[in-house]
Amino acid sequence: NIFNHQYDVHIGTDTFGLFATEYAGLLESADRIAIIADEYVAELYLPLLQEALKVLNRDISIKRVPAGEKCKTMAVFTDCQSFLLGEKFTRDSLLIAFGGGACGDLTGFVAATYMRGIRYIQCPTTILAHDSAVGGKTAINMPEGKNMVGAFHQPSSVIFNTRLLNTLPPREIRSGMAELVKHAFISNEDWANELLANPAFTQPSIPWLSTELLRGIKVKADIVIEDEFEHSTRKYLNFGHTFGHAVEAVCGFGELSHGESVMIGMAYALLLSETYGSINEEKTNEFIAFAMKHGYSFRPIHDYPFSSFITYMEKDKKASFGKLQFVLLNGIGRPFSKELTSLQCEKAFDQLKQRLE
Ligand code: NAD
Ligand code: ZN
Repeated sequence: NIFNHQYDVHIGTDTFGLFATEYAGLLESADRIAIIADEYVAELYLPLLQEALKVLNRDISIKRVPAGEKCKTMAVFTDCQSFLLGEKFTRDSLLIAFGGGACGDLTGFVAATYMRGIRYIQCPTTILAHDSAVGGKTAINMPEGKNMVGAFHQPSSVIFNTRLLNTLPPREIRSGMAELVKHAFISNEDWANELLANPAFTQPSIPWLSTELLRGIKVKADIVIEDEFEHSTRKYLNFGHTFGHAVEAVCGFGELSHGESVMIGMAYALLLSETYGSINEEKTNEFIAFAMKHGYSFRPIHDYPFSSFITYMEKDKKASFGKLQFVLLNGIGRPFSKELTSLQCEKAFDQLKQRLE
């Protein structure tokens, strides 16, 4: 049980059975139920989810939304609201988000705002979504920027069936695994070292993932319980993200995935930690070698000048009062927040470039 609005997170290969057992009561208490599904995930797995819900003998509405990031738009958001109104959903209705982080963010935001807020269940289908499905941040994108319109709205539960991860393409595996590395680096040195030493890091088995993603979820949950609205420690979850977001934006969204960008961001944060925190040079180098070995690219560091990244970072919402805020490490597992000047950032950028040579 986690958060003030306590809810359970279930992860494993047989979790869909829970709809008919543990969650039968919750589903029965809803006057209407809709699955909002990533259309690609729906094609692969909707029958599996419908089969699990069949015993409830309910009429369940299905709304397919564009696969991946394309669903996080105002147009799709409006379309979903109209759909629910058309289907006569009320304040007692319930949504099920079925897809990766994008579908989860959209569905969560639809649930947060439909008739001032209805319940929803997160049913994540990507590795990355072990991060995004927990914590209650929901959002859609605006032409001006990612996640610019959203709300905090916690789900009623998270039901993660890791069997569905079998079809994830390598790029999505890499993207999601970067967030797992983040959870390890901000919480536990032994765990972080285990991940760095794992030769099968980007070919993870499903049982291994079930255990590891649960570990990641626990790190996130503990932090969110302490600081739901990001006044203090929740910031630590942004490790690698200040620079990572800049990389993602500068390269053009979709060019590098979120996690691939965050991997570069974490290398940069480790390098900054050598000077402003406490990380030794060997660790940063080990991290870079590990990332390269598993197919993460550092090309953007060579392809774009520092000025491109700093322009974005200064615009980013996490740069408070003109200052650039980073999460650095006083040793692995010991994150802290630090404001740096653009000159300090530039120096680290040049160092990173040298290290990559
Ligand atoms: P995604 O949801 O965009 O999905 C990536 C691709 O994988 C899509 O094309 C999708 O159709 C496909 N896919 C999903 N599940 C699959 C499966 N089981 N098999 C095969 N293909 C599958 O990507 P994501 O990385 O899960 O999520 C990224 C989003 O999450 C971003 O929008 C980001 O802003 C958001 N996010 C939110 C939070 C939060 O706290 N709310 C945290 C991190 C990221
Ligand atoms: Zn992230």
